[in-house]
Amino acid sequence: MKRLPGNFAAILLIATFGFAALILAAHSSFARQSAANAVKTPSANEPVPALTPFVEEHAHFDEKNPAGAVRSALAALGRENAAMIIFQISPDTFDHPGRYDSEIILAEVKKHPGKLAITGGGGSLNAMIMKSVATGDASLKVQKEFKARAEELLREGVIGFGEMTAEHFDGFTPYQSAPPDHPLYLLLSDLAALHNVPIDIHMEAVPREMPLPPDLKSPPNAARLHANIVAFERLLSHNPRARIIWAHLGSDFTGFRTVELDRRLLIAHPNLFMEIKTDPQAPGRNYPLGSDGKIKPEWLKLFTDFPDRFVLGSDQHYPEPADADKRWQETILLFNQLPASVRKKIGTENVASIYGNAVASSLHAAKN
Ligand SMILES: [Zn+2]
Ligand SMILES: [Zn+2]
Repeated sequence: MKRLPGNFAAILLIATFGFAALILAAHSSFARQSAANAVKTPSANEPVPALTPFVEEHAHFDEKNPAGAVRSALAALGRENAAMIIFQISPDTFDHPGRYDSEIILAEVKKHPGKLAITGGGGSLNAMIMKSVATGDASLKVQKEFKARAEELLREGVIGFGEMTAEHFDGFTPYQSAPPDHPLYLLLSDLAALHNVPIDIHMEAVPREMPLPPDLKSPPNAARLHANIVAFERLLSHNPRARIIWAHLGSDFTGFRTVELDRRLLIAHPNLFMEIKTDPQAPGRNYPLGSDGKIKPEWLKLFTDFPDRFVLGSDQHYPEPADADKRWQETILLFNQLPASVRKKIGTENVASIYGNAVASSLHAAKN
């Protein structure tokens, strides 16, 4: 009996521990699995930061909540490995309700020198150009007012003129079109050269007059698009000391912002720079990334052939919309594939040379 109960107890013990061990094993494997899931799910959404610091050279903000937008942009710096974010003002017209310019957020931005900066004129200089195109009045009086406004913005502390436009499809702001060699654009390039600040320009590529691409609606967009590349080249040649940044490479909705066109213009105009923007929700017709996420060889060759001429301008809005893919993320996935020496230039050095002291000194301070 002694043995039996002993054996019985042993069997019971084994059975109990065995069962417990089974439960534990099952539980721990479940735990491991859920831990794996717990790690895996966020990691799929976890942002991938830039391998090396970069300047986000083209971002927008919620103009109804400037302080919140600034908080959100500052919080994004570490997550993205961004050294600095430059806000741009959407190009707008006088008759569009809700038009604003840099003054709406300037005081908040200036509290964070070296981390945030802003261009200006999208809501005023650009609107003056659109008005002048509509009225045909580019008289000396109009030019004087334009110059006064540009210099007011610079006195207030903007570091460039943007976001200007010459061909812009209807979106957050209305359809807009202006010849890039309009007298006010030529004047703006003289002012940019004089004050040593760049111009940021949004312009769909239209090498020759064409109907609106069929996937876009007219109205609100124009039924026919005017040729603008020859006029853009006149703007670039007008004052070679004016640095001009052609925004949104990768976000081409006419189909003509090709590697070939970009290459030809970069060769012909040493004062031309380009912003890389890759938006997975609205990829352009000439998109630098393949469906596998890799940079297409012809684009990689362009970036490495002209490493001094590109910057990152993802067009990200702050605060980041919860329901949209992050534009900055796709742009950084492209950036991370560039050779280290090219990444250094496109990430920070080019922005410093294009914007001059306004950016260079703070980037230098951030490095040390
Ligand atoms: Zn734009
Ligand atoms: Zn923009």
